[in-house]
Amino acid sequence: MKTQVCVIGGGPSGLLLSQLLHLKGIDTVVLEKHSREYVLGRIRAGVLEHGFAKLMREAQCGERMDREGEIHEGFLIAHDGRLDRIDLHGLSGGNSVVVYGQTELTRDLYDARARLKGTVIHDVEDVRLNDLHSGRPSVSYRQGDEVVQIECDYVIGADGFHGVSRKAIPRTVLREYEKLYPFGWLGVLSRTKPVSPELIYARHERGFALCSLRSQVLSRYYIQVPLTDSVDDWADDAFWAELKRRLPDEVAARLLTGPSIEKSIAPLRSFVAEPMRYGRLFLAGDAAHIVPPTGARGLNSAASDIYYLYHAMLAHYQRGDDSGLDGYSAKALARVWKAQRFSWWMTMLLHTFPDRIDYERKLQQTDLDYLLSSEVAQRSLAENYVGLPF
Ligand SMILES: Cc1cc2nc3c(=O)[nH]c(=O)nc-3n(C[C@H](O)[C@H](O)[C@H](O)COP(=O)(O)OP(=O)(O)OC[C@H]3O[C@@H](n4cnc5c(N)ncnc54)[C@H](O)[C@@H]3O)c2cc1C
Repeated sequence: MKTQVCVIGGGPSGLLLSQLLHLKGIDTVVLEKHSREYVLGRIRAGVLEHGFAKLMREAQCGERMDREGEIHEGFLIAHDGRLDRIDLHGLSGGNSVVVYGQTELTRDLYDARARLKGTVIHDVEDVRLNDLHSGRPSVSYRQGDEVVQIECDYVIGADGFHGVSRKAIPRTVLREYEKLYPFGWLGVLSRTKPVSPELIYARHERGFALCSLRSQVLSRYYIQVPLTDSVDDWADDAFWAELKRRLPDEVAARLLTGPSIEKSIAPLRSFVAEPMRYGRLFLAGDAAHIVPPTGARGLNSAASDIYYLYHAMLAHYQRGDDSGLDGYSAKALARVWKAQRFSWWMTMLLHTFPDRIDYERKLQQTDLDYLLSSEVAQRSLAENYVGLPF
């Protein structure tokens, strides 16, 4: 089999790039380890920055997002029994975010690939990347007993944190930066009306909590839990009771509870791999970097990689200009690190760290006081939250 761009990973990054390139006449093949149903069953991100939403429209995948997604012009910070609002729209010069679940977004991308008869191959095993430093790299995979080889011009590693692409870069070349946090987020999805039309980030001495949503009938709530906890430790009633304890009384009083339809614990991690290019392999999205979900940067960091790669590929195929491809790693990483800084900062600001000394607790309190009393500090938060320019 032959193609121009072989994309490993059928998550949002891989599908979006494949769709954008296809619309410009560039041939792609997407290889996905799991079935479409499995990929669509993963409950993940929900907040899209305006640049991501624009890219979805450019990929002709924005129709349902624009119809069903919710524009959010602000969010709330709960602390010390009260609520303060961050006016994203006013502070960022008129920008906002779109609340639209990653599941729905991925479904739209799969539907768009199917409409254009794009090649997405599911249930591939044993994916291998070959001859990445030659003019003609290839990717092989196994499906049942059959081994298939795909010859291509370029390979995109969009196969997430646990994928194989990053591992194809020799250890002598790859540098990894990682920070693990001593807690995770226990998330519950419930078919209940959200407690607030805007997200509430709650700082509390018992631990962080987040009231998020996917729509006006679907709520997503999180609480910070020790890494030693498992989902089985948290019956629904225990989850709701703990969430209420971490919210101001007036919010807790109007929280509607119901049976969980999904419950999972995600560890929190910051991670960056450099460089994001090796020969003819380009890494994108979670394959190259991870952030803790505080600040909702994960999926949005993937979007800027895709934007840079898309334009670099266009310049290469349409004008024979390779400067975008050559500069991809440095350009992508410059924005990735800014998203890392912001996610790390929001995580440090809002979580309870079991081993923090009193001096650090005082600094954390001062950081929050400063934020809530300074318009300049809030402008910086808003600028990062709605998304720095690509
Ligand atoms: C539990 C959880 C909650 C999250 N919550 C948020 C949030 O609230 N806000 C936010 O912004 N971000 C969140 N994120 C992060 C966000 O979901 C990711 O940043 C986003 O999914 C990245 O997209 P991606 O396409 O780069 O990677 P992925 O979505 O991981 O997609 C990679 C794809 O590659 C496939 N794959 C893996 N290995 C192979 C292989 N060897 N061969 C072929 N295919 C392979 C995988 O099956 C997968 O479908 C969350 C992540 C997790 C795990």
